[in-house]
Amino acid sequence: LFLTIEGGEGSGKTTLIDGIAKALQGHGKTVLFTREPGGIPIAEQIRGIVLDNENTAMDARTEALLYAAARRQHLVEKILPALNRGEIVVCDRFIDSSLAYQGYARGLGIEEVRSINAFAIGNHMPALTVWLDVSPESGLARIHAGEGREINRLDLEGLAFHKAVREGYRQLMAAEPDRIMRIDAEQSPEIVLKDVLAILNARI
Ligand code: C5P
Ligand code: MG
Repeated sequence: LFLTIEGGEGSGKTTLIDGIAKALQGHGKTVLFTREPGGIPIAEQIRGIVLDNENTAMDARTEALLYAAARRQHLVEKILPALNRGEIVVCDRFIDSSLAYQGYARGLGIEEVRSINAFAIGNHMPALTVWLDVSPESGLARIHAGEGREINRLDLEGLAFHKAVREGYRQLMAAEPDRIMRIDAEQSPEIVLKDVLAILNARI
């Protein structure tokens, strides 16, 4: 089972994934947790480029292509082998991040970004995607309050950008309601985890 977790800044993806990891321990399933952009050395190097605060000249299409390249390598080197071994894969961000951030919020177009990602990943779509929906106001407040979290180039985008990301996710969910499940991430971390585990238990 290939599961992805999506959401804007400060939506609680990391906290949720820690909770899923603890909950699935002892259930006899091997679960691979990984993240994007990154997950393997080549893709972590690309992450360094796209998130470097110095790279203010980054063109939006260059950015989209780099994310797609990182995704391709991550998929073939790590995700597909794990799925082929019968493991559950939980990935922090995947294609929907590119569609919402580069496609919708950056204005490249969801369908344009989908097509470069089709080249990168073929038909290897997540079976299930959890979208942690939080208002940009609360999400940004969380990350600025959080200790030890690096603030990157994207976090510094204005509120309008983060509102557009949210609208992008909303449109993606409306188009694929069977795959993308919206969770109200304004709720406490405990309730968010409970809601997600209920969805997962029905699938595992
Ligand atoms: O999920 P995480 O906070 O680690 O993501 C790192 C950064 O990459 C975020 O600031 C996010 O906005 C950005 N990102 C992006 N486009 C993607 C994936 C991530 O702008 N396709
Ligand atoms: Mg995170």
